[in-house]
Amino acid sequence: MEEPKGKYYEKRAQVLVKNLRSRNFEAYYCADKASALKKALELIPEGASVGWGGAMSAQQIGLMDGVRAGAYQAIDREQAAPEDRPKVMKQCLLADVFITGANALSLDGQMVNIDGTGNRLAAIAYGPESIVVITGMNKVADTLEDAVRRARTVAAPMNKQRFDSDTPCQVTGACANCKGDSCICNQILITRNCRPAGRIKFVIVGEDLGL
Ligand code: SF4
Repeated sequence: MEEPKGKYYEKRAQVLVKNLRSRNFEAYYCADKASALKKALELIPEGASVGWGGAMSAQQIGLMDGVRAGAYQAIDREQAAPEDRPKVMKQCLLADVFITGANALSLDGQMVNIDGTGNRLAAIAYGPESIVVITGMNKVADTLEDAVRRARTVAAPMNKQRFDSDTPCQVTGACANCKGDSCICNQILITRNCRPAGRIKFVIVGEDLGL
């Protein structure tokens, strides 16, 4: 990451990591994608079953490819037949390790995520023994209120551009609090602390990742 953005990210990350640890999360700062990939793979025990969801940032650092190629049991919904995907998504809820991203983080160490189906939020809240969150520093907002606003008015409308539907955000780029079948904002989870301690592990990357 070029200066001064890299310096800015590093300084904010020092505050963020300290605050995440105060809430019993594990947290690590990696300046770039390559070091983030190395750290993330270290956090996954050999032989573990590994599922994922909402993991665009993890994809961008090469973690999905690393899991597929490594000594792990990948629960890979992308490679499952369409009719098998719901079953595979449920299997992810009992994986040893679940990999995901964050829609937003507050500098005081709270994570905000939004889901249409709820499978990712269910995994984060309870189920897999270990959750590995890969997130870029572009997701970090000053306050929890700002983080919720980011998740609702930036991440969700941007995410919706990946799908073919007619929600207001897809047409205009702005959220209009829709309620229809195509809405991807059906559940909102704020992860405030980590229990048991260390279950959720953050790999914070000093680059812009995901949406
Ligand atoms: S318009 Fe609907 S789908 Fe789009 S961001 Fe708002 S609530 Fe979510």
